[in-house]
Amino acid sequence: MIRVQAVAPDSLGAALELTPGTELLAVNGRPLEDFLDWEFLAADEQFVLRARLPSGEEIEYDVERPEGLPMGVVLEPPRIRRCANHCDFCFVDGNPQGMRQALYIRDDDYRLSFRYGNFATLTNLKPWDLERIVQYRLSPLYVSVHATDPVVRRWLLRNPEAPDVIPQLRWFVERGIVFHTQVVLVPGINDASQLVRSLTELYSLGPGVLSVSVVPVALTEFSKHALVRQPTREECRAALATVDDFAARAVADRGVPWCYGADDLYLQADLPLPPAEWYGEFEQRENGVGSVRYLQTRIQAARIEPDAWRDKRIGIVTGAAMGPLMPQVVSDLTATTGAHFEILALENSLFGPSVTTAGLLPGKAVLAALRDRSDLDLALLPAESVNDDLLFMDDMEAHELAAQLSMPIKLSYDFADALVAEGVGV
Ligand code: SF4
Repeated sequence: MIRVQAVAPDSLGAALELTPGTELLAVNGRPLEDFLDWEFLAADEQFVLRARLPSGEEIEYDVERPEGLPMGVVLEPPRIRRCANHCDFCFVDGNPQGMRQALYIRDDDYRLSFRYGNFATLTNLKPWDLERIVQYRLSPLYVSVHATDPVVRRWLLRNPEAPDVIPQLRWFVERGIVFHTQVVLVPGINDASQLVRSLTELYSLGPGVLSVSVVPVALTEFSKHALVRQPTREECRAALATVDDFAARAVADRGVPWCYGADDLYLQADLPLPPAEWYGEFEQRENGVGSVRYLQTRIQAARIEPDAWRDKRIGIVTGAAMGPLMPQVVSDLTATTGAHFEILALENSLFGPSVTTAGLLPGKAVLAALRDRSDLDLALLPAESVNDDLLFMDDMEAHELAAQLSMPIKLSYDFADALVAEGVGV
């Protein structure tokens, strides 16, 4: 069952008199489990929708939907699939006691992987999930592989039930599903020869694995330091040498590097980042792979009027994933504009801290970070965190947020769009 949270005015949903609180029960007799069912089953031009109004009355609608007309229905946020693993490096487990409940949620949800590029391990899939991934063509999916040796992967995930990932991925690839993958590098466990094995086996799956990134494990002060440690500079360099070997082979075979080191891996190895062209379409930039080069490219290409922002104080709201990488980008922004920038890397108060992409930040988290800030002249918010109706994941509307803040806000994909005169504003 899924429930309506908001309905856009002048939409088909409004014409049907769907109201917030309405439960959407079935389309063409097929029960609706989540937003994926709703989007795929209600995409037809004609369908029968069964719904239960907030009054308790059940209604069947014969919906005729002219091509391209959106339903205009915003659903309540989905219940997140919980993670079945217990990785030693999980920063959610690393949170101190006594924080609010959402901060302990460990998500592992293939639906968010498809929709938002959140990485999932695919260790909690039921047969029904396998079927709908193929049926709905949820592709590409973003998968945390970590190691292809089943024993090493189960050790890393602390999950003796974790399926053997290569046969699992192959099963999907044979059915047309493709993947972006990542290896979170844990020194002494999945680096060195294990990293070579993982990359070799992923490469052997052919074009079904679109890319693999190697990301150094990130620990907090609360992580299990007795069990896992950060890689040293030399270990990061060794991993990058392996990445370079596979990338050279992939460039020769396939014309793309395929294997990428995360920006943070270069940072910790004390080596320069590859040029922007290396990253192609920057497909893993949300995972901190090529993010710095992507933003630098966008800033350089923009025609920002320098005097418009000189000495202004500008807050940049982003997700936790981008926090450590932002200083490199901000130095370019400062040089271009003469403004003073402050990075506000927020934890996700709706889905919990394992969801680190900026696009899933709820409006309430942004409000909490900016409400008491009277010292900022402008705040830049991630444009991907609102939908077409300017609603955040928690149904807060961008104008409603702006009305509670003392500084103006602008929605921005890459800063450059907001800092040129005609930037998207709220
Ligand atoms: S790191 Fe990810 S996969 Fe591992 S326990 Fe935490 S949420 Fe689960």
